[in-house]
Amino acid sequence: MKKLSKRSNLRIIPLGGLSEVGRNMMLLEYGGAILIIDMGFRLPEEDMPGIDYIIPNISYLKGKEKNIVGVVFTHGHYDHIGAVPYLMDKLGNPSLYASSLTRGIILKRQKDFPLQPKLEINKVKDGSKIKLDPFKIEFFRINHNIPDNLGLFIETPVGNILHTSDFKFDPNPVNDLPTNFQKLRDFSERKILLLLSDSTGAEEVGHSLSEKEILQNLEEIFKRSPGRIIAATFASLINRIQQIITLSEKYGRKVAIEGYSMKTNVEISKILGYIKSKKGTLIKTKEILNYPDSRITILCTGAQGEGSAVLMRIANKEHRFIRLKKGDAVILSSSVIPGNERTVQVLKDDILRQKTKVFHYKMMDIHAGGHAQKEELKEMIKIMKPKFFLPIHGQYSMLVSHAELAKGIGLPEKNVVVAENGRVINLNQKRIFIERGGIPSNYVMVDGLGIGDVGEVVLRDRHNLAKDGMFVIVALVDRQSGKVKGSPDIISRGFVYLRESKELLAETRKKVIGIVNEAAGSGGAVNWVYVKDELRNKIGQFLFTKTQRRPMILPVVIEV
Ligand SMILES: [Zn+2]
Repeated sequence: MKKLSKRSNLRIIPLGGLSEVGRNMMLLEYGGAILIIDMGFRLPEEDMPGIDYIIPNISYLKGKEKNIVGVVFTHGHYDHIGAVPYLMDKLGNPSLYASSLTRGIILKRQKDFPLQPKLEINKVKDGSKIKLDPFKIEFFRINHNIPDNLGLFIETPVGNILHTSDFKFDPNPVNDLPTNFQKLRDFSERKILLLLSDSTGAEEVGHSLSEKEILQNLEEIFKRSPGRIIAATFASLINRIQQIITLSEKYGRKVAIEGYSMKTNVEISKILGYIKSKKGTLIKTKEILNYPDSRITILCTGAQGEGSAVLMRIANKEHRFIRLKKGDAVILSSSVIPGNERTVQVLKDDILRQKTKVFHYKMMDIHAGGHAQKEELKEMIKIMKPKFFLPIHGQYSMLVSHAELAKGIGLPEKNVVVAENGRVINLNQKRIFIERGGIPSNYVMVDGLGIGDVGEVVLRDRHNLAKDGMFVIVALVDRQSGKVKGSPDIISRGFVYLRESKELLAETRKKVIGIVNEAAGSGGAVNWVYVKDELRNKIGQFLFTKTQRRPMILPVVIEV
């Protein structure tokens, strides 16, 4: 590696479009060397039909693959690991570092992508130190709502950076130890130049609930439910899954797990000892018929109202074994992604119509209960005494709120910056500032098997199709004369009811013939692209004046 100038700035780059800042992926760059922190995805919103995931835009890294010194993962939530199968080969397969549970979840998921190479992931744990020149990273455990979560203490040529990961201070965690405050103070002793801290809970006052308190809240639902309990949550919310299993055992219930991703996560977590259950507690779904309702818990995915997830199929009576009935209690999370509230509302109504009780418990959300709130965030800043502060992992309002908090306890205004994804933050011993301009950070959408081939144009088409339908015109044209042969065919979906629009169709056909005959000219070489454009524009205009609708028009011209 080339000799580095002492005066170089460290650059910090959060990636991920309009997602929460730095939650899906972050880069630290110094003298050309790039360290990547996390590689996750975001679920789409209601206005993105057919999109499965949104992954970080990595075009900045194109041509810099050799400069990537490694990827470190903080924890196993999909918004921190989910993009691995889509991005690894594009990044030149850099070396990976993760805790045992995080590693297990990444490796298991990779198996669903048989075309992707097998991954080698280096295992790290509390206290592990690695050197990815010019960075030295020390991992430390910190509480969250998934076990085996690691914060990062990073020594860089400009100074030390502390990255909290997603975190909360939990005096009573599940399958985990309470926060090691002495360790945090030791890092602080070594001087923190910059603190990067989780902002998810920065708008919430007080202290986050401990996992033990959440368990007690859930127990109330168990006490009040005489029939089956159907608990919908997120597949990677390992602590909630453990709590439901623990309570089921306490109240003599068997647990059936439904949903592929949840099943596999439970399997890995059990093998690694992060989920504990007694022998015989977990049963197959079809075995639920062998037990009275009062002894059954069903744990499933679909808390978000995702179309294909288990709870949705149960509510829509499409599930193979499970139908809702009177006496059932459904525990549902409130929606986690702003914009999905309506979907969750419809789901909730559907469940209630089937005479089932619904408990809308916020802590089933992936982000609820797992993140430090104002008092803990202040405490973190007070312990670390950083010179500079950059709030991360939050929507803009959360970052602002976190920044205010930091200034409120004494950090100078100029030492606190709020940045968005795609902006480049510069850091040296003396100051922190945001570069002018930025790097590409628009959405990259994953649609089924395609990555990034669905851009805004495709999305706009899907909107138009959904709004005014489509209108296909098929015209046979004589190659010699350039004239339409016979009557053009018209196929339409979602536009108007064709049988009741005979007049409109007849007029349209007449127009099609006129447009083609005129545009194709009088024989010779015909510009078919021009003919199609004319059809699209003129028929579009015509249909709009007749119906005030703008269906998508697809002209098909066949030469015969
Ligand atoms: Zn998390």
